[in-house]
Amino acid sequence: MTNSQAISRCFSGTYAEARGKFLDAAAARDARVQSFELPGLRGALGETLAMDVARLGPADAKRLLVVSSGTHGPEGFCGSGCQVALLNDDELLGRLADAKLGLLLIHAVNPHGFSHLRRTNEDNIDLNRNHVDFGKALPLNPAYAEVDPLVLPATWPPTEADNAALAAYIGKHGEATYRANVTRGQYVVPDGVFYGGAAPSWSNRTVRAILREHAAEATHIGWIDVHTGLGPYGHGEKIYPGRPEGLARARAWWGADVFAPFEGTSASADVSGPVVSTVYDECPDAAVALMGLEFGTLPSMEVLQRLRADHWLNRHPEASQAQRRAIRQGLREAFYCDEDTWKGMIVGQSRVVLLQTTQGLRAA
Ligand SMILES: [Zn+2]
Repeated sequence: MTNSQAISRCFSGTYAEARGKFLDAAAARDARVQSFELPGLRGALGETLAMDVARLGPADAKRLLVVSSGTHGPEGFCGSGCQVALLNDDELLGRLADAKLGLLLIHAVNPHGFSHLRRTNEDNIDLNRNHVDFGKALPLNPAYAEVDPLVLPATWPPTEADNAALAAYIGKHGEATYRANVTRGQYVVPDGVFYGGAAPSWSNRTVRAILREHAAEATHIGWIDVHTGLGPYGHGEKIYPGRPEGLARARAWWGADVFAPFEGTSASADVSGPVVSTVYDECPDAAVALMGLEFGTLPSMEVLQRLRADHWLNRHPEASQAQRRAIRQGLREAFYCDEDTWKGMIVGQSRVVLLQTTQGLRAA
């Protein structure tokens, strides 16, 4: 097997295959494995849906590296590949062991979306908008009401009049404002795009339980949540999804190319309620460094177009089987480039970030 083949084999074509590779690679390392099954629902192939955890290193490690995948369903093709590549990486695991670090891998935060090829979870919730305090007033996005009918027109593909109406909105407000109004998160239209939900999701509650079990004693945590769909092809943008006071630590560990949405320098909008923000609730005394490692696929407006189609389909169950298949396939390709070149870029950059995080934790 060539090195290129070895890298490509870390990636999978379905959620079920990815889960199998992850569990096999974890078993080969004698990792402690836990599986949290999503109750009552099955995958696209009838398979069990679960969030799987593999834990390596000392059980009482104070310094913990967390790598999570599949927060946004099919983005898990990439994140799962990174996790399997790490489990296959003797040299990098050796460095983690030398530094006596704990390693916590969380596979398929959103197994339903991963299997069914939807970025959202089983309830159309964007998990990275779901980790807000539902006991308080929810974040407002008053601009969403105006963009919803533009983003999700009555028919798909959009008519010329639909396209003209959207172009007029973008012409008036600018593309950046349009993207921010669509993507920052909204809590009022349950079948709309970037919907944050009305209560903590199963994934939210499960991630919190995992942190309470594995990270409660940690004094230092580095957490990489792997994503796709923003930025240039194959490039890994280091997005900082944490609180402003932790940005200096993130840049010290990962470099000057850590971009913070709240500074307006990232490919991502400043979103409400990302998964990684649970660390502030569950591990309030730990020093944390958080990253959304976001790998580019297709041009961002093309990705958004395919997300629109996906949500239109969710609103229109009467769509034909042929259209259904085409939209699902289009969504998969928006978040996963099934090409050796891309996979090589992913594993290379992921490895650098994991090594940097190891060094950051080691020195902490
Ligand atoms: Zn994502």
